[in-house]
Amino acid sequence: MTKPAYPPEEARGLWVYLEQDQGRLEGVSLELLGKAREMADSRGMAVTGALLGDQVSALVQEAIATGADEVLVAEHPLLRLYTTDGYTKVFSQLILERKPDILLLGATANGRDLAGRVAVRVRTGLTADCTNMALEDGTGLLVGEVTGFGGGVLAYIKCPDHRPQMATVRPGVFAPPQPDASRRGKVVTVPVDLSQEDVKVQVLEHVTGQGLDITKAEVLVAAGRGCRGDFTLVNELASLLGGEMGVSRVPVDQGWASRDRMIGQTGYVTRPKLAIVCGISGAFQFTVGIEKAETIVAINLDDEAPIFEQADYCVVDDMFQVLPPLIEAIKTARGGNGGRQG
Ligand SMILES: Cc1cc2nc3c(=O)[nH]c(=O)nc-3n(C[C@H](O)[C@H](O)[C@H](O)COP(=O)(O)OP(=O)(O)OC[C@H]3O[C@@H](n4cnc5c(N)ncnc54)[C@H](O)[C@@H]3O)c2cc1C
Repeated sequence: MTKPAYPPEEARGLWVYLEQDQGRLEGVSLELLGKAREMADSRGMAVTGALLGDQVSALVQEAIATGADEVLVAEHPLLRLYTTDGYTKVFSQLILERKPDILLLGATANGRDLAGRVAVRVRTGLTADCTNMALEDGTGLLVGEVTGFGGGVLAYIKCPDHRPQMATVRPGVFAPPQPDASRRGKVVTVPVDLSQEDVKVQVLEHVTGQGLDITKAEVLVAAGRGCRGDFTLVNELASLLGGEMGVSRVPVDQGWASRDRMIGQTGYVTRPKLAIVCGISGAFQFTVGIEKAETIVAINLDDEAPIFEQADYCVVDDMFQVLPPLIEAIKTARGGNGGRQG
């Protein structure tokens, strides 16, 4: 067993890595601050946000309003865009100097990349993609819940001897907390020791997505293999309800839909008010991405489809027979204009 970089007795506080991109905090960092606040309150701990970037101090107040007691700000021009080596060096140094007990990161592309590197650099364990977490009664150890064997088992993982106890959580797993603008916190600017030689990767172009974020949709109309690649009705219904179209993995694998619409374990975890799930069997890897919906309506030909165990309303029928009259009924109810309404 590798010797810990610092002993558990010297470790203090619960940290959240505040991931930012071009002056905006990632939603998952805010979700983690909410969960961290809840856990820290149960043990009288402080929540510290770690913010790395260039000219990012404007984000500090948002982090404090969302639950941080203290924010460590590490600014440097070479941290303007994320690079594995630059961020790993600065963040690992910060951890070794200040010795956090627990460190949570969002399981975004960059968050996953950074978490793995940092865990190795500071010689600790990492529980990746937690579906829940808590502080253990008595010991106060972080216990991360993760799924294994395709969802067949739940594993509870802790890291008793090494620090920090690290975990990543995917966007959407925890609800975003209500910010409280009256909260006050401490801001600590930390020195950054970083030079061009430390950053071997050169970012030539920074491309951001087209803005689709199905995790923000209040209504999702999701389609799977049963739609046979024809999303006309699904799209029309989503548009009528002011929502977005989501898909199971099959349409992505078949090349019928883009990956940014995929719901589930390897897709997005969503929490819409209404999810209408059409032609999707309801495999565990799909339902983990939709089970937090307030209301689920499932349409499936097979009355034994597992999706019906999750659904609030079950329609055993052909989606191509069910959707046209539903769309017409909505249009009629709106006086025939069919316009989008909330
Ligand atoms: C490690 C791993 C990760 C995965 N991650 C994901 C993930 O993130 N998201 C995901 O979705 N999957 C994921 N999967 C795949 C998952 O296990 C399932 O294979 C997938 O969700 C099945 O998609 P589906 O329900 O669209 O297709 P199927 O399971 O083939 O189901 C199609 C359903 O459509 C119904 N149907 C057919 N025609 C009609 C019709 N005309 N009207 C109504 N119903 C109809 C059928 O009765 C059937 O129930 C993952 C798998 C693994 C191993």
